[in-house]
Amino acid sequence: MDHPSETLRHKCAACFRQFNKIEHLVEHMRLSFHSLHEPTCSLCHKHCRSFESLREHLIGPLPKQECNNIFGTRGCKICLAIFESPHTLRLHQERCQLRSPNFSQIMARFRNMGICDKLTSDNGRMRRHEAVALACRMVGGGSDGSLDICARVCLIDEKETIIFSTYVNPTLPITNYRLESTGVGPEYLRDHAMPLKQVQKKIQDILCNGEPMWKIRPGVGGKARILVGHGLGDHLKTLQIEYPPFMIRDTANYPPLMKTSKLTNSLHYLTQAYLGYDIQNGNKDPYEDCVATMRLYMRMRAQVHKIEEYPLASDPQNKNNFAIWKQFELERMSPEQMLEISRSDYYCWCLDSKLN
Ligand SMILES: [Zn+2]
Ligand SMILES: [Zn+2]
Ligand SMILES: [Zn+2]
Ligand SMILES: [Zn+2]
Repeated sequence: MDHPSETLRHKCAACFRQFNKIEHLVEHMRLSFHSLHEPTCSLCHKHCRSFESLREHLIGPLPKQECNNIFGTRGCKICLAIFESPHTLRLHQERCQLRSPNFSQIMARFRNMGICDKLTSDNGRMRRHEAVALACRMVGGGSDGSLDICARVCLIDEKETIIFSTYVNPTLPITNYRLESTGVGPEYLRDHAMPLKQVQKKIQDILCNGEPMWKIRPGVGGKARILVGHGLGDHLKTLQIEYPPFMIRDTANYPPLMKTSKLTNSLHYLTQAYLGYDIQNGNKDPYEDCVATMRLYMRMRAQVHKIEEYPLASDPQNKNNFAIWKQFELERMSPEQMLEISRSDYYCWCLDSKLN
């Protein structure tokens, strides 16, 4: 017979799920990859798989009442952090809620439409990888117009300055210009477009930044740039560009920003929920997507987490910590000890801020 105090021992130290049997908690820990990098409630310290579930916990239809009460007076609905007083919250919110990139900035770009190309090379100091964000606009090809063909591409740096922006000359005939969502008409492609081959070369040069592709390594400082975007797989496919996956930060596939472990959030939603503004309706310029993804990336990179020496479950030093311990040894550990040896199954972007 379990005593109430014993049932308490079978509570996961991260997500607070309770288990009748200790072996079920051990099994749960093996599969859940809890870590210090998960979005966490700063009041009760519950770990959540995503910011969506943390939001539910704080302000969902069935929130945890104690946390909800405090969050209501001094919690930021955008970044979900909690402040000491309503006053510090207000000061914070002025910086936390962003505005969409200003209109005149975008209009100025329209004036020198076509190719904008402003690549600054850095002086080769060892420092963290710089990031660039990329977004495309696709028109339709194929007999029914459903084949995605890149017609426009934009890249920006961390300061939201455009590094490269151009119309792309399609290699296949366009059967649907999707004018409503792309703003790309035949006249633009005729008068301003760059051949795909040239676009690929340009983008590859920006990404590699003078480093040969085969030399790019994860983690260590280097000149190659981290590529940020939303749904980059599709974009890179239509551009026919390859880039090492460990250099890619995709806001569509980053577990803390996903709706569920399988479902992606739209960029429109993420911008509204986590940056606090709307991507202009009918926005046809990929620049705004670049800015939104770059801002999301910077916010995620700026998270302050305690960083373990080997933060990933897949790091060879960890060899999946739960496998090396015998079942009976794990069953004797406290829930906190189990959490201590548990590591993340995804790469937290806060690790990018680490100087190597
Ligand atoms: Zn748990
Ligand atoms: Zn982290
Ligand atoms: Zn809480
Ligand atoms: Zn905030």
